[in-house]
Amino acid sequence: MSGAVVSINAGSSSIKFALFTLDTDGPRHAAAGKLEGIGTAPRLVARDADGAVLVDRSWNNGAGLTHEALLHDLFAWAGDHLPEHEIIAIGHRVVHGGMAFARPLLVDDALLTALDALSPLAPLHQPHNLAAIRAIRALAPALPQVACFDTAFHHDRADSATRFALPRALHDKGIRRYGFHGLSYEYIARTLREIDPELAGGRLIVAHLGNGASLCAMREGKSVDTTMGFTALDGLMMGTRCGNIDPGVLLHLLTQEGMSSGEIETLLYQQSGLLGVSGVSSDMRALHKSEDPHAAEAIDLFTWRAAREAGALVSSLGGLDGIVFTAGIGENDPIIRASICERLAWTGLTIDRDLNARNAPVISRPDSRIIARVIPTDEERMIAVHTLGVLPAPGGGR
Ligand code: ADP
Repeated sequence: MSGAVVSINAGSSSIKFALFTLDTDGPRHAAAGKLEGIGTAPRLVARDADGAVLVDRSWNNGAGLTHEALLHDLFAWAGDHLPEHEIIAIGHRVVHGGMAFARPLLVDDALLTALDALSPLAPLHQPHNLAAIRAIRALAPALPQVACFDTAFHHDRADSATRFALPRALHDKGIRRYGFHGLSYEYIARTLREIDPELAGGRLIVAHLGNGASLCAMREGKSVDTTMGFTALDGLMMGTRCGNIDPGVLLHLLTQEGMSSGEIETLLYQQSGLLGVSGVSSDMRALHKSEDPHAAEAIDLFTWRAAREAGALVSSLGGLDGIVFTAGIGENDPIIRASICERLAWTGLTIDRDLNARNAPVISRPDSRIIARVIPTDEERMIAVHTLGVLPAPGGGR
């Protein structure tokens, strides 16, 4: 029997997972899926590496089923699906590693306590990440689990990139810019080292454009600056999040509009961004299809803001050699890429219409001063690689 590793990304009502078997040349993607509707109408869908549906299951009267009960069923399914493989470890995306945790770590009691203390910094994500770890500990206490932090890739940036212009005592308490999407950026940096080592060694902006969106400025494969800050609200306009905003607006909403902190949280995380500006949808594909002029306005603002933030990162890098697009919009949407690249033409970037329309790996023209690439991200694989790297012995074991 050979080993398998599971990557887990647990949210409030859904758990995304991917299953990797262990080949001599690293983890091999065997299946991926999602348990969604937890707390309402749970549904488990998983597909194999070719996209064929392996399981599509709903639970009758499943509203009362906990994360733990559903994870139990997920494990049972994985055991049936891969009878010749033994799950040797679970890797988790944990959104916040705070100031202390700069690399993936094997979970123990002390780590869980330390990560609980970071929950107030990411109240919408961290508690759910940790709840999944605890649920699996209850189901399989001896199974090694590894926490992989979304903040870790940005940990070693210079002080100027992490500090708000606030009194020092607040910075020392942890009120600083952390940055997120680190597992995606790390995967891109790794992949680029393999496919284009020269660019990997240069000055690069990676645009992770999905429902959540951010940019990362990298020099020699290391994060120098990024658009997300203390929380994943900062920076770019996103599907439902506002991105950077004058903090005076929040004071105004509190004192003049009489909004509660909970209402403001809902506004900033769930009702703003593409959805708020268009009034149509948070989904870029739906906005392209819509004939509502506000949809076009939302798309225009999205690319304007992305180019504006990219301009700031060019300054942080002291120039630019390349740009990489990734995640749902970055990998699949030629209109958005073209618009952002046109707004960055002053850098010497020109893209080839046909290559861009085909989502080709390189979309810049041969005479462009800046190389533009499209690289599909794979955060789950990054988690699996880290998980194997942290296990006590090669190939690990219980
Ligand atoms: P998440 O942050 O939830 O992981 P994704 O990376 O899946 O988000 O990105 C979701 C966004 O990507 C949506 O706005 C969606 O419209 C867009 N998207 C996904 N697939 C495509 C596609 N094939 N063409 C254009 N846009 C796409």
